[in-house]
Amino acid sequence: MPVYTSEALILRTYKLGEADRIVVFLTRDRGKKRGVAKGARRARSRYMGALEPMTRAGVAYYEREMRDLVRLNYVEPQRSPLSAIGLAGGAAVLGHVGYFAELIDEWAPEAHADERLYRLGSAVIDALAAGAPIERLTRYFEYWILRLQGVYPALVVCPGCGGALEAGAVMPPREHTFLCRRCASASHGTNISAEALGFLRAAARTAPEHMETLDLEIRAARELETAHRRLLNTHLEKELKSVRVLREMGK
Ligand SMILES: [Zn+2]
Repeated sequence: MPVYTSEALILRTYKLGEADRIVVFLTRDRGKKRGVAKGARRARSRYMGALEPMTRAGVAYYEREMRDLVRLNYVEPQRSPLSAIGLAGGAAVLGHVGYFAELIDEWAPEAHADERLYRLGSAVIDALAAGAPIERLTRYFEYWILRLQGVYPALVVCPGCGGALEAGAVMPPREHTFLCRRCASASHGTNISAEALGFLRAAARTAPEHMETLDLEIRAARELETAHRRLLNTHLEKELKSVRVLREMGK
């Protein structure tokens, strides 16, 4: 049985039998894996505290021929979002941590490396640990995860008339482009102010490790939240469980 070691992001776990857990994790070098953590549900398990969603860890696992499930040998946490919970509004942060993990899980390809997605998730963990404002971090993360899938609308030029999107834009109902106000004048839709566009353009050229340098006011953040939810629901063809949790928390 070949053994692999890697850095990985823990995405979620579920129960297996009486004492074990299945762990879904994104490795830096070989994509998403599902592995059995033997004894992880026992009281004094060696996996204690290591399997929370969005924990970055060193992992070792065995791959068995003809089986989808790998077998975890160890998970050594390097950084955990739990360390951020005390810093800024525990429950809200925890709700968002679940949201980040679920989005990565939805889009991470099985057994196929995606270095950029890994880097984005890893940077979010660092930002959480540093106490980054959760709203700005969330909008940044949504922008990038949609962009990495190649489905984020163009930010500079209106696809209706080819003019510049200077004074803001509108995402019309049931469409997934940002139109200038002239082209969108007859339709309703989601308003994207010049401030919101400014944030997105800055996000496009700002690496995850420098996201704390971006500004985002409340009103623009709400606009992007609405637009991103529409884009995500369309491309995932469903609403995520963690989004319902956030809504029930009033977030
Ligand atoms: Zn136009």
